[in-house]
Amino acid sequence: MSQKRIAIFGSTGSIGTQALEVIASNPDLFSAEILTAQTNDTLLIKQALQFQPNMVVIGDEKKYPIVKEALAGTHTKVFAGEEALEEVASLDCYDMMLAAIVGYAGLKPTLCAIEIGKPIALANKETLVVAGDIIMRKAMEKRIAIIPVDSEHSAIFQCLVGEGRNKIEKIILTASGGPFLGKKPNFLVNVKKDHALQHPNWSMGAKITIDSATLMNKGLEMIEAKWLFNLQHDQIQVVVHPQSIIHSMVQFEDGSIKAQMGLPDMKLPIQYAMAFPNRIANPFPRYDFKRPETLSFEEPDTKTFRNLALAMEALRRGGNMPCILNAANEIAVYAFLRNRIGFLDMTEVVEQTMAKIAFIEQPTLEEYFETDGEARNFAASLIHM
Ligand code: NAD
Ligand code: MG
Repeated sequence: MSQKRIAIFGSTGSIGTQALEVIASNPDLFSAEILTAQTNDTLLIKQALQFQPNMVVIGDEKKYPIVKEALAGTHTKVFAGEEALEEVASLDCYDMMLAAIVGYAGLKPTLCAIEIGKPIALANKETLVVAGDIIMRKAMEKRIAIIPVDSEHSAIFQCLVGEGRNKIEKIILTASGGPFLGKKPNFLVNVKKDHALQHPNWSMGAKITIDSATLMNKGLEMIEAKWLFNLQHDQIQVVVHPQSIIHSMVQFEDGSIKAQMGLPDMKLPIQYAMAFPNRIANPFPRYDFKRPETLSFEEPDTKTFRNLALAMEALRRGGNMPCILNAANEIAVYAFLRNRIGFLDMTEVVEQTMAKIAFIEQPTLEEYFETDGEARNFAASLIHM
């Protein structure tokens, strides 16, 4: 393999920093061409000094002078602001984008990369939740691969390698169940953010950690899977598997089930997406079948974790409903993280926003942008922010 130049959008986050660890361990295979961060100038500067990218973007324009000065004398060019993200994503100077920005903010830069024909290693699931039809259609037109980084989707992708046109009967997405597995509403009503931020198996950014605690994350992943693997809503099943050893499964039309397994470590799906179709040797800890652990499976409790039921409804209805769900959820999660609303209120905000915003069956990209804005405004009005 020749050295692949990676543009990491969201390099200071949980996925971004782990991707840089993968690059640091495989300097013959990868280089960091572009790094971007929203607010963490200190870490972005440190990363730029270590990896010497061609360009960096700091989202928060107030931080531009600090980053510019710290990187003066290096060859790294410094840009700032939301529009710079799209401009830099549109430059033909890298081989693959790792889309690791969190939330709706990741959509536009990813679209720019697809537009100029760059393959995408996709961590940012919200991009497909919001506008999956448009993203997949454009990727098809440009003949570029979208390789999932999300561990469940990476598992399914890996199970499908070599299967050609063999038909999928269904996929089985595994869910850890999060920190509140088995809990009921009378417990959840009092949950505070510090508790919700403690995930049993994965260390991740704040937004996805809260989504994992409410099971919204699994709902977003069902929608993500629909687009990535061209499935109908009733071909996607969720199973709670608290040990997070089986990362997901595919059941084919002959009833055979393939699973991808391993210890939970995001560096594995990150490096798989970056190196596809090759695998890279690594010293990560291995799963040991000798250790006395039972792998268990159970149904998700959608009556208690209603976010998952709402996401299933959005998946079934299609159109702009997943976009509405996502926008309301982002507002709700950030309000919860600022102690403005309670744990169960997040579901109320999403449900009421889904009931309020006009349904569009086949939205244009412009209509997705409008839907996102309207849903955010309405959700925020419910919280009085
Ligand atoms: P994070 O919060 O740790 O990092 C987010 C990154 O995005 C940071 O670099 C931040 O600077 C940047 N960012 C935040 N807001 C931005 C904005 N408005 N504009 C531009 N950049 C912005 O998040 P994370 O946990 O690394 O997750 C990133 C994405 O990957 C999410 O979509 C998440 O669902 C997905 N994902 C993460 C994991 C995981 O283990 N962390 C697993 C599967 C999928
Ligand atoms: Mg996942």
